[in-house]
Amino acid sequence: MTDNEPRDFIRKIIYDDLESGKHTGIVTRFPPEPNGYLHIGHVMAICLDFGVAAETGGKTFLRLDDTNPGKESPEFVQAIKDDVHWLGFDWGDRLTHASDYFDRLHESAIRLIEMGVAYVDSLSAEEIREHRGTLTEPGKNSPFRDRSVEENLDLFSRMYAGEFADGEHVLRAKIDMASPNMNMRDPAIYRIRHIPHQNAGDKWCIYPMYDFAHGLSDAYEGITHSLCTLEFEDHRPLYDWFLDQLKPEHRPRQIEFSRLNLAYTITSKRKLKMLVDEGIVSGWDDPRMPTISGMRRRGYPPEAMREFVKRAGVTKKDKLIEMGALENCVRETLGDSAPRRMAVLRPLKVVLTNYPEDQVELMEAMNHPGNPDFGTRELPFSRELWIEQDDFMEEAPRKFFRLKPGGEVRLRFGYIIRCDEVIKNDAGEVVELRCSYDPDTRSGTGTSDRKVKGTIHWVSCQHAVDASVRLYDRLFNDANPNMADDFHSVLNESSLEVVPAKLEPSLAAGDEAVQFERLGYFRVDAQDSTPAAPVFNRIVTLRDSWAKLEKQALGN
Ligand code: ATP
Ligand code: MG
Repeated sequence: MTDNEPRDFIRKIIYDDLESGKHTGIVTRFPPEPNGYLHIGHVMAICLDFGVAAETGGKTFLRLDDTNPGKESPEFVQAIKDDVHWLGFDWGDRLTHASDYFDRLHESAIRLIEMGVAYVDSLSAEEIREHRGTLTEPGKNSPFRDRSVEENLDLFSRMYAGEFADGEHVLRAKIDMASPNMNMRDPAIYRIRHIPHQNAGDKWCIYPMYDFAHGLSDAYEGITHSLCTLEFEDHRPLYDWFLDQLKPEHRPRQIEFSRLNLAYTITSKRKLKMLVDEGIVSGWDDPRMPTISGMRRRGYPPEAMREFVKRAGVTKKDKLIEMGALENCVRETLGDSAPRRMAVLRPLKVVLTNYPEDQVELMEAMNHPGNPDFGTRELPFSRELWIEQDDFMEEAPRKFFRLKPGGEVRLRFGYIIRCDEVIKNDAGEVVELRCSYDPDTRSGTGTSDRKVKGTIHWVSCQHAVDASVRLYDRLFNDANPNMADDFHSVLNESSLEVVPAKLEPSLAAGDEAVQFERLGYFRVDAQDSTPAAPVFNRIVTLRDSWAKLEKQALGN
């Protein structure tokens, strides 16, 4: 038990159950279906399921909820395991599959038939739909509802034996076709699918339905609190009904919380899969994807993601959280942990006409302005340098304190320079600046205490590492693409910009997240980068340029 006040209603229930002695230990499960990669919404569920068990000295199962063969694959299973580990959680020896229980579930289905509360229906899927009724009208009983136990047992065993085609029969619970809760109108328990299973192979041609398999799997594993999202609230009576009928030794309790939705993002595996399959993104781990593997590849630290869901909180109210809230967590974490480096993304050449041709000086540069423990490094400085195109303006307003014709600026960790001449190409574009440096103004050691207003970053041409840098933006233009009729209509066409960049030499090695001074946080792309052709991803900008827009769109 922790000494802290429980921070949400689920923790309150769980802590109370421990205090009252209802449970002596907490057991939870995280039950993803391996039909896609995990996304930011799942981070919330993972942190809750694993977090609350860890806090109370309990246990968590990672259960692959694989009742729907055809959509599931070992690739997704592996990705789920990698992602949960990367987030910082461990299931120990408690990796299970719903399919591990297929034999027991099958036996339980037979028991329900024997008890007279399940029957084989031979209506077509279409007819079953017609019989189900609507929210305002009760359903109608199937003409097969009163089959004898013997006939049901016979038909079910022949379904199992593979005598029938998909859809020819279905096993249903016999509950109440007039129930106001549609889930209780004789829901399907088993259906025929002649299709091999990612874990069970081709042993089965009948598969249990999610609602049936889930609660019983919870019971088999001794789950105390089965935490899921609100769309399962209406399924809880059914969850309880199966437990009431079959009376397993252990009885789990289902508790629902609201889904986490992130603005400008979709959190539906089905839609994310469309983005991948249609080639709109480069894969499930495209750094623009709200998947855990996408965010990992982009460079989001796992602790930032855990902090984000902690701040979002576990509630019963639907919420759409600003992307800025996630990015702020990323900024805060990286602000402390990322060393500073210099990189120029849109280079403009500067030639220091009064600097000796062959001279190279090594400038001492701090690796972190707020933390001397990060130490220093040496930056080579020479006659020809790259600066950002944006740091020069030919017709500059009075308040522009960077470089302009005749103006001065300080080069960080270097000298004060003055722009003497602007060189243009035939098209009239600025291609080079001729500048002079003041030798008395070297940072740290200069004899002059002359000050100028602006400081800009730079990279020595002769020492620069060429790299390609990927700048990411929101994947969607709409704050809630989940609601769009067709998400294609709200795709942000410029969510990826690739720029050629010049990096300081130390960036040729290492793959940790770094801050490019004045530009943002960046990290080597683990997939596409090579020592000969480095590729960096922008993790996040230094400031939130979307904040205002996003607040307006969300009505905050
Ligand atoms: P999707 O709609 O993306 O397919 P899902 O609910 O079908 O999501 P599952 O693999 O079944 O995905 O989810 C595993 C667990 O994660 C479930 O307990 C589910 O309630 C939870 N979960 C899924 N999406 C979210 C979300 N957006 N916020 C919080 N929890 C979520
Ligand atoms: Mg699901």
